[in-house]
Amino acid sequence: MTALRKCILVLLDGLADRAQVSLGGLTPLQAAATPNLDRLATEGVCGYFHALSPGQALSSEAAHFFMMGYAPEEFPGRGYLEALGEELAFGPDDILLLAHLARCRPQDGRLVLREKKPLLPEGEAQEFFRAVHSYQSSEGSARLERTKGSSGVLILSGGALTASITDSDPMHPGLPLMEPLPWEGAESDPAALHCCSLLRAYLGWAHARLAAHPRNAGAAAPVNAVITQRAGRTPNISTLQERWGLKALSISSAPIYRGVFRALGAQAEVVAEATDPAQDLAAKLVLAGERLDEFDLIHVHSKAPDEAGHKKDPGLKRRVIAALDQGLGQGLEALAGRDILLVVTGDHATACSGDMVHSGEPSPLLLWGPGVWRDQATTFDETRCAQGALGLLRGPELMHTILNGLDRGKLWGLRDNPRDLPYYPAARRALRLED
Ligand SMILES: [Zn+2]
Repeated sequence: MTALRKCILVLLDGLADRAQVSLGGLTPLQAAATPNLDRLATEGVCGYFHALSPGQALSSEAAHFFMMGYAPEEFPGRGYLEALGEELAFGPDDILLLAHLARCRPQDGRLVLREKKPLLPEGEAQEFFRAVHSYQSSEGSARLERTKGSSGVLILSGGALTASITDSDPMHPGLPLMEPLPWEGAESDPAALHCCSLLRAYLGWAHARLAAHPRNAGAAAPVNAVITQRAGRTPNISTLQERWGLKALSISSAPIYRGVFRALGAQAEVVAEATDPAQDLAAKLVLAGERLDEFDLIHVHSKAPDEAGHKKDPGLKRRVIAALDQGLGQGLEALAGRDILLVVTGDHATACSGDMVHSGEPSPLLLWGPGVWRDQATTFDETRCAQGALGLLRGPELMHTILNGLDRGKLWGLRDNPRDLPYYPAARRALRLED
């Protein structure tokens, strides 16, 4: 049997953007010099990818989760993925929430958000986190584990709890912190009510502890609240290998991707991010090449375009993308001669303009490798990928397309396994002849 083809999925986080006035109406990707991406587009096939439905703005972790062929109903919540990625200790029944310190202004018995995730001197941040680390009551316990800066994960334990509760983080300054409520349909679920009550008690306790903290004495804008969002818990889902027959590795520089891939039972390495995006991507592709014999699918991730997008700086994002293109070219030299299917896309759009955190445009997509169509697209960007033959792929369609490109897709309808799996060969049981 010939050696199996492998897939490298180059994920340029937040790649897609909108037309930017400062770039003469171009997107940062359109304005950037990208000779390597354009060569791959010329030699391969282009199209678009959206992990859910075009127009919907997705977080990176949700987009990655859906991209790997998992349904929104299976999504375990940001708090859980964060805790897993940060390698925090927690139990299978615990509820995990993304949490931040915040400066708030008390007003009419409410707390109005002034600033979330304030930049604090290290010693000060440590002291605040220590002050609100452990809470205990007859209802249960809460533990706030710091991850970085003014952010952490809040772990709720004790009795039956559910993650079907709303956020307390209002996201935008000027708005009051919100009351944790059960989701629609869970209004009378005792586990949801219990979880809301425990969280409310913790948030009130944390506010009192922080407001009285000596570090806040005399401060005009004290760090006086913990705010929470996107509760989650350990899911019951099949692994990526069970679902797609592929052994996967993620190479990134952010723990949240380790969380996503570990939640799918896959392996993940978090490597230090090089300052230069070109060097960073090239080094990750070299590492992918070294691990190619052990894995079928390697996710190679750069956060740089997303970060530039969040800075609302189109010029910076254009430079970052041009650097990533150089890094891609260097990294591919190290992979020359290997039998690979190369996939390049983004997880979601991060627009340099507008008020949305991420935006809903689909991401440009290209596939390159043996047998892959060559279409009319010769430029890899948000509009000229429309000259590609792939069209728009959504959610699990990308994984089916990858299986197909790896020659591992199963003919629909064949049943070699009690479970209807999309790949070939699945685990099967041999017919035993009677003696
Ligand atoms: Zn982002």
